Amino acid sequence: PARGEPLLDVAAARKEFGGLVAVRDMDFRIAAGEIVGLLGPNGAGKSTMFNLISGVLDATSGEIRFRGERIDQLPSREILARGIGRTFQHVRLIPEMSVLENVAIGAHSRLQVGIGAAMLRLDREAEARLRHEAARQIERVGLAEDMHRPAGSLSLGQQRIVEIARALATDPLLLLLDEPAAGLRHLEKQALAEVLDRLRGEGMSVLIVEHDMDFVMNLVDRLVVMEFGQKLAEGLPLEIQNNPAVLEAYLGG
Ligand code: ADP
Ligand code: MG
Repeated sequence: PARGEPLLDVAAARKEFGGLVAVRDMDFRIAAGEIVGLLGPNGAGKSTMFNLISGVLDATSGEIRFRGERIDQLPSREILARGIGRTFQHVRLIPEMSVLENVAIGAHSRLQVGIGAAMLRLDREAEARLRHEAARQIERVGLAEDMHRPAGSLSLGQQRIVEIARALATDPLLLLLDEPAAGLRHLEKQALAEVLDRLRGEGMSVLIVEHDMDFVMNLVDRLVVMEFGQKLAEGLPLEIQNNPAVLEAYLGG
């Protein structure tokens, strides 16, 4: 898709857990080549919103469209195949496996073969292709030197970037990143922001959940702020920074 073209359209998305409304009539859009930040206090519904988009959870009501087609009824594997990749709030790398092998798992899930069948049943040629694709993504995020190290031996900041490489190996048009900067030191956050900025330069679209205002302010094109499952505000970083409702609800809380 060309830069600026509509990519994701979330309309009146709602998710209830029993009596709790975790996401309440959320509306927002993401265009191709845009980095959008999803901001909000703990429990606001950000991860639930991600899970609705990626198909980990089914919406109670509402519609989610990707490139004009409804995806809200599709299984997560199909949503992945259509071009939405994601990372999770907590690191999910296999620490004993190498960076390359961890990223190869991402490349593999694109081939739509059950993970159980994974490495075992692959012939040599298929495995070589996976490794080649994984290496390409690792180079893309600047971790080529660490490719053969166990993932668990890397710093937390590097592990987060490995997770992004693994998501990239599914060949997404839109990346969903759930708090990738949480717990990182300042320099690690800078390194992460550089990777994301470079991906945007290549035309990638990103929806990034974040807690740290300063980190997103300098990175994103637009912000959507949630509180109590609802959209509280939406706008440019500077607009959000000066929005009284956001200041009260988010920064005051
Ligand atoms: P955030 O990511 O913004 O911190 P979440 O989306 O994780 O918020 O959670 C939003 C609300 O939904 C919270 O009150 C949380 O306790 C609740 N919630 C999230 N997932 C579930 C679930 N699987 N079952 C029941 N309640 C949930
Ligand atoms: Mg969360």
